[in-house]
This record gives sequence, structure tokens and C-alpha cells, in this order.
Amino acid sequence: MSRVVVVGSVNLDLVYGVPHLPRPGETLLGDALRRHSGGKGGNQAHAAARVAPPGLPVAMVACVGDDEAAVRLTSDLADAGVDVAGLHAVAGPSGTALIAVDADGENTIVVIPGANAAWPGDAVDRLALAAGDVVVLQLEVPFEVVAAVVARAASVGARTVLNAAPLDRRAAELLGDVEVLVVNEVEAAELFGFDSEVDAETVAHAVAGSPAAVVVTLGGRGALVAAPGTPPREVPAFAVDAVDTVGAGDAFVGGLAVALADGAALDEAVRWGSATGALTATVHGARHPRLDRAAAEALVTGGR
Ligand code: ADP
Repeated sequence: MSRVVVVGSVNLDLVYGVPHLPRPGETLLGDALRRHSGGKGGNQAHAAARVAPPGLPVAMVACVGDDEAAVRLTSDLADAGVDVAGLHAVAGPSGTALIAVDADGENTIVVIPGANAAWPGDAVDRLALAAGDVVVLQLEVPFEVVAAVVARAASVGARTVLNAAPLDRRAAELLGDVEVLVVNEVEAAELFGFDSEVDAETVAHAVAGSPAAVVVTLGGRGALVAAPGTPPREVPAFAVDAVDTVGAGDAFVGGLAVALADGAALDEAVRWGSATGALTATVHGARHPRLDRAAAEALVTGGR
């Protein structure tokens, strides 16, 4: 059976509340320090493992440090059902995100890449990939690593889903070997140079001639799909009571990748992504602790 192999970042998120975001030179008292496993790659693997059907393996390939955070980052993924044999321990600290949230929910985030920036030279060569595997990448690790994995996946007949976040314009250079590119509205505008509100025709025009399908996520407004040889289209979001959309995009990618590995066509996979993203928006935090396949399936199949 095909696997989902997420290659990318894991971070320990250190989240604290402050009365207001600190001004230069100001010292403030935070309320309490909360620790959550995060990182775009880790969040995607977590969501994928939670919605995967029985027997569809989800593996994470990432670098963690030699610190206590590495233990937590590894066990949180393993507890969600992710195969963590591909986590490399490198000397130094794990990736860390410092997240201050003020009374209005506004935040500032400082990411210290740590181990995510310290991939060993042979890590990509050691990556075990097989034809039919769905490889999922984001851009929180060195771009050279992402480019090497995309090339490696293409050479063995694996399929690639690239989530070009945080955006690096060099992502456009990889599209010849990517099956599905996922970006949000802001990333799409920056990557393709859109200056007004984006619609499916505009996206299709921007990527005409590329073999990659492009999915642009629009938060609660759903997603746009532009795929070679088919008319551009909109896929609506599922109506949920959203309380926090942090991590919805990561969950979307995880759900989409699982459906592709399970044999779904692109539009069906986008619906699985939308369902997984919508469910994640119903809880605080980037990882939904009770996300499961049954809930996602109920949304995807509802009304059919
Ligand atoms: P990102 O977090 O990368 O900015 P989006 O906010 O576009 O990503 O969300 C990704 C996907 O998650 C959307 O395309 C949608 O399917 C789902 N989603 C996000 N917010 C909501 C919401 N408020 N209601 C329903 N679905 C949502």
C-alpha cells in the first residue's frame, strides 16, 4: 500500500499570553508558558495519521535536536500513529517557536529553526521512498533539501505534494516534478504576482503549461483548483463553528495527501483536505487532539 511520507519541520511551540504585545525595550509578565508540538511538517503528519484509513502508513522525516524537546516532539507524533523512524537526531537544540498572544488574540511569532536548519548531508540519500508513495513537503527546512527530495521522489516514481509555505519564490522552479502545489491566498498572490482577489481562472492562467495541479486555499471560503486538462473550479469549505484557524492549512495538506495515497482523484482529495482543515479550525491550537477519520469522512460524504 502507498505511504504518506512527510518531509520537513518539527518545532516545539512555546506559547504565552501577554496583556499587550511588548514594545521595544519593554519587560512584561506573561500568564503561563504552554508547550505544544508544532512545525508545519509535524502538524501535517499528525493530521494525516489521524485521518488515514487502517493500514495506510504515515511517516515523518525530520531533524530534531539532542534536547528534551526532541523527546516530546517524537512521542507526540508516535502517539498520533506517525512512523517516527525517519526522525534524525542532530547536535544542538530542536526547532522552537516563541509565540506571544495578546488579549485580542493578536500574536507575534519568532521561529528559531535549530535542528530544522541542520539537515545532515546524507539525509536525503538515506530517505527510503518507493513508487506510489505520496511525499509531502513544506518550506520550513533548507530549500536545497526540499529540491533534492522532490528530485529523488520523481526519480523513484513517488508522487509529490508541495505546500509552498512559508513562501519561497524558488518553489516555482520545482513544479515540473510536483503533482499538487498547495498555497494559501497570500502565498499564491506572492508566487504568481496576482494583485487583486484571486479566482480559479486566474490561477489556471498563471500555471498554464505546468504539469502540476494547483490548489489555493481560501480559509472559510474553501479552495480553488487548477489542474492540467480540466476546467478551473472552486471547492466550497465545510460549514463548521470555527474558533481558531491556526493549523487549518497544515491539516488540509495532511488530509489531502492521505486521500491521494488512498487512491482518490484530486477533487475528492481536496474535499478530504477541506474536511480535515475545517475540523482543525473547531479547536484551539494547530493540532486537533481528537481529530479522527470518522469525523472527516462524515463531512466528506455528508449529503451524498
Ligand atoms: P492557511 O492556514 O494556510 O492560511 P487556510 O486558512 O486557507 O490556510 O485554510 C486551509 C483550509 O482549511 C481551507 O481551504 C478550508 O478548507 C479549511 N478552513 C480554514 N478555515 C476554515 C473555516 N473557518 N471554516 C471551514 N473550513 C476552514
